[in-house]
Amino acid sequence: MEKKRVLITGAAGFLGSHLCDRFINEGYRVVAMDNLITGDLKNIEHLFPNKDFVFYNQDVSHYIYVPGKLDYILHFASPASPIDYLKIPIQTLKVGSLGTHNCLGLAKEKGARILVASTSEIYGDPLVHPQTEDYWGNVNPIGPRGVYDEAKRFQEAITMAYHNYHKLETRIVRIFNTYGPRMRLNDGRALPAFIGQVLRGEDLTVYGDGSQTRSFCYVDDQIEGIYRLLLSNYAYPVNIGNPDEITIKEFAEEILKLADSNQKITYKPLPTDDPKQRQPDITKAKEILNWTPRISRADGVKLTYNFFKSLPHEYLFK
Ligand code: UDP
Repeated sequence: MEKKRVLITGAAGFLGSHLCDRFINEGYRVVAMDNLITGDLKNIEHLFPNKDFVFYNQDVSHYIYVPGKLDYILHFASPASPIDYLKIPIQTLKVGSLGTHNCLGLAKEKGARILVASTSEIYGDPLVHPQTEDYWGNVNPIGPRGVYDEAKRFQEAITMAYHNYHKLETRIVRIFNTYGPRMRLNDGRALPAFIGQVLRGEDLTVYGDGSQTRSFCYVDDQIEGIYRLLLSNYAYPVNIGNPDEITIKEFAEEILKLADSNQKITYKPLPTDDPKQRQPDITKAKEILNWTPRISRADGVKLTYNFFKSLPHEYLFK
């Protein structure tokens, strides 16, 4: 039987590269696309010798051309950390809006099913806790995070419009904080920041008083949820994340303990519109996808810490 062919945008990024691995392992042909603004070829270079893998250096915010059939498209191209979207706000808006439009157009042309990567950021600083998919969110459109949050909200709207109007097969995953090997240490996110700091012998920087909460999901669990959602027949948004919630201060302390370090925590100002709490309600994912996260934070953080510890020391200073 002919192998199924999947396009993954943002393929050289953190989640994109793990998706490439998963689809290659499942026996698909993978077309990987990235413009390498925040992605890194190092994340996928091990796949280059594979005859079922091809890489296109293209910006999805411009017209995209992919010859041949496509069965599935996974749209994962986007800057995804607050530091990135503050640095490149216009590209962030474009890839979530124009980039999504281009991917939807390609899916329609190819008769492919498309899954778009949405985010817990569409809930903003949530007034409902934990966040269920039917909560509409509390987003500041003109704040620094607005470029990401509103692009992702538009992405959901246009995806549903293609589903309803063009009868396209669409899937929307709302991804909550996810971590693991291949994150960029300097992307400003809490976990890679803390791991980089602990390995460099620096103080850990906690923003605000550290009482804000997040719920962290290990990458393998996240990829499993996305894979199941793609193959399901459910067109509405589904939260994928780990509901195990923790304050950021406790999280920093856990990493100091794991590294057996007596480095200190220093407190920095809380960034504008930093959500105070976040926890996914994953009832839907459990019911529809029979999915639940399997990897505890203790195990996942250890795996991630050991990954970064094993890299050449210079890497910690990039
Ligand atoms: N954070 C922190 N120190 C850092 C980086 C992040 O205290 O060096 C905080 C950040 O303000 C936020 C939480 O950790 O409250 C999670 O941040 P991240 O960027 O990982 O995710 P997001 O805010 O997008 O959920």
